[in-house]
Formats: sequence, C-alpha cells, structure tokens
Amino acid sequence: MIIGKHVSIAGGLDKAFKRAADIGCNAVQIFVKNPRGWKMREVEAEEAEKFRAARQKFNINPVVVHAAYLINLASPKDQLWEKSISALKSEYQRCDRLGAEYLIFHPGSHTGSGLEKGIERIAKALNIILNEVDTKTMILLENTAGAGTSIGEKFSQLKEIIDQVDQSERLGVCIDSCHAFTAQYNLAETEGLEELINDFNNIIGLDNLKVMHLNDSKYDCCTNKDEHAHIGKGKIGSSAFKRLINHSKLKDKIFILETPWFDKEEDDDVILLKELRED
Ligand code: MN
Ligand code: MN
Ligand code: ZN
Repeated sequence: MIIGKHVSIAGGLDKAFKRAADIGCNAVQIFVKNPRGWKMREVEAEEAEKFRAARQKFNINPVVVHAAYLINLASPKDQLWEKSISALKSEYQRCDRLGAEYLIFHPGSHTGSGLEKGIERIAKALNIILNEVDTKTMILLENTAGAGTSIGEKFSQLKEIIDQVDQSERLGVCIDSCHAFTAQYNLAETEGLEELINDFNNIIGLDNLKVMHLNDSKYDCCTNKDEHAHIGKGKIGSSAFKRLINHSKLKDKIFILETPWFDKEEDDDVILLKELRED
C-alpha cells in the first residue's frame, strides 16, 4: 500500500522524509513554502540536493506537494488572479527543482462571478502556467467540500476545467474523502463509495485519479463542511476506510493522510490503515 501523510517541513524541506519514515510511511505530502502567505524564496541548488539525498535515504515515493491556500485561480479580480498565477507558477518550478511527482491545488472560488466564469479563469490560468513551466511534475485538481462559491465539489466541474486546458495530459485529480463526503457522497455506506467510483470513472476516468486524501470528517454527509478527523473518529468511520483502501479499483492509488499530527512517536491513523489493509 502506498501510504503517506502531510508532514511538516520545519527545519528544512529535507526534514520531511525522516518524519514520514518514522511513522511508517513510504510516501509524503509537504508544503514547499508557508501555505498561508505569498512570500517565497528560491530553492537553492544545495537545498534541492539535500532534499533528493534524504528522499533516497528514506526511500519515499512519491513526493506530493500541496499548494498554498491563498491561491485562487478562479478569482474575477485581475490583481488576485495574476498574483495567484505567479504564486502557483513558482511553486510548480520548486516542484520541478525538487523532483516532486505531483502538485495539488484547490481550484478556487469564483466569489460571485458565477461557475462558468470561474471555470474559464482557472483553465486560462492553468494554460499560462503549463506553457511557462516545462516539467514532468503533474498538477492535480482537488475536489472541494463545496462551501460558499468554491469550485470543484462536483466531478463535472473538474472535468470542465480539464477540458479547457491544452496540455491536459499534464493534469490529474486528487479526491479528498472528507470533501467528497461532505459535498455529496455518503462513504459511510457501501453504495456511497460505489457511486463515487462510478461517477468519477464516467465523468473523468479512474486513470486520472492520481492521489486520494484520506481524512475522516467531523461533520455529516452533505454539510459542505471541511474539518478533518482522525480515521475512524469521524462521521465516515473505519469500516468505510477499510472498504475504500481495499477496493479493487482504488487499492493501488496513492493514499495521503491530512489528519492532525499526533503528539507522540507513532501515528495512529497510519497504524489503523495498515491494520485495515487486507494484503
Ligand atoms: Mn487540499
Ligand atoms: Mn485534501
Ligand atoms: Zn480538507
């Protein structure tokens, strides 16, 4: 099973790998900058070298990067839209330098301009970024919980974005279980998971599902709320995660936990998922 967790980069980007390995992960997700700010400095060659060496030492594959939260490619305001493009672009360049396989971002919020307009803005922004950055790193769109004017709670919205992008083969999708649950799919029931898999396959195609964020949810199905809970401690429940990680159509996907960090050496979520895994 490919299992990772979002870990801190305190002390340097290369420090992420030991943190992941220490809790039994073979994959990892990180921020490559402060996720709540715009500021970003260059990744120096030496830093990238240390990063690649640590990765090799701890044998972590793949490396998934999560983009900053302030980025909003759907914004109707030119200033924020342009700022968002240059921010995501420089994160993308960082990913290339570090050799990360995936860069995940939230599609954004149209803040009143409407869904169609927002989708157009996102696609236009992605076209600019993909044109200007030449890299093997894939960009993944993450589904959202559907609060406010956010775009991407429906797979059809993600598909519309992908269809408007020229180099769409460089795009993929990340499904967050918590977001899917509070948006519309009742993963606590077998039928809810089947519905999600069928919808995704019919609308986008399962080959384009590259990463799954495994998070339980503090809130009920269809509430559009986004608060992650530890696996088995939320409204989705551990039997739902057992179904998900062993499902023949999902079992080989990359699973990444975005649950809170434990204040001890082991990670109960990683341990539980390994217990629930059937092979
Ligand atoms: Mn996310
Ligand atoms: Mn997520
Ligand atoms: Zn979330």
